[in-house]
Amino acid sequence: GDPLGVNVRAVALDGGRVAVEAADVTEAHRVARVRRDFVANVSHELKTPVGALQLLAEALLDATDKDPAAAIRFAERIKHESARLGRLVSELLELSRLQGAEPLPEPEPVEVDKIVAEVLDRTKTPGTAKSIDVVARGPRGLTVYGSENQLVTAVVNLVENAIAYSPESTTVTIATSRSAAETGTDAGHIEIAVTDQGIGIEPRDIDRIFERFYRADRARSRATGGTGLGLAIVKHIATNHGGQVDVVSTVGVGSTFTLRLPARPTEAAMALPPSVEI
Ligand code: ADP
Repeated sequence: GDPLGVNVRAVALDGGRVAVEAADVTEAHRVARVRRDFVANVSHELKTPVGALQLLAEALLDATDKDPAAAIRFAERIKHESARLGRLVSELLELSRLQGAEPLPEPEPVEVDKIVAEVLDRTKTPGTAKSIDVVARGPRGLTVYGSENQLVTAVVNLVENAIAYSPESTTVTIATSRSAAETGTDAGHIEIAVTDQGIGIEPRDIDRIFERFYRADRARSRATGGTGLGLAIVKHIATNHGGQVDVVSTVGVGSTFTLRLPARPTEAAMALPPSVEI
């Protein structure tokens, strides 16, 4: 394994302070490695669509006179690829903002009804898209604390995925609820659960789908215009709010992603601290 890890254990015998310093070095190495991997991944993820766009543009130029029908197909693929590239760049910016590059807004009480209404508005499937019903249910009048923009972004990402990984004529449900307090000091949680009747997720992928750029099925993600960043963004937003996001899924039946947020402002939400990663 990692030689630094061995060092930490050896130094630990000599006393606490030194061991902590050694652990910091290990952590710094880990962060540096994660950052290098991330930059390499980003470069690769950007190069692929840029390369595809170049080839498609050449093919388009070639086909313009000879084969107008093919030219239209190439133009449409250029449109699809450039839209995906645009989304990739804005999601990368979003992720870097969430990771503390810019100060986050003050936490404010946010009405869950308002989040749901905004999400329904933003995910209405336009004329040509799939016919999938997005419905909401749950009690009215729930409140969470944090940034309305971020929370809307998180739920929009979950609903867009639910739509992308579901067949025609199925239903996506946004269910909101409040769970009771477990101890005297906690005010319970608000849950926003997005359920689909889609393809589901294999057990071997389930622990990894919240990683940046991880996709269970690259080809399918690409075809749906996915960037592999949506769930990483959702996870960051959940943690920044002192909450978490979980998934339960059965292949061929569907998935439920649940965002669980404190029902009262917490220190995590108050500070909205930048995450340590990257
Ligand atoms: P992408 O842009 O590829 O959708 P995400 O980070 O949003 O990236 O999701 C990562 C991967 O998790 C997806 O590529 C897909 O394999 C899987 N996934 C996410 N949501 C769902 C869902 N509702 N049903 C099935 N698979 C899903």
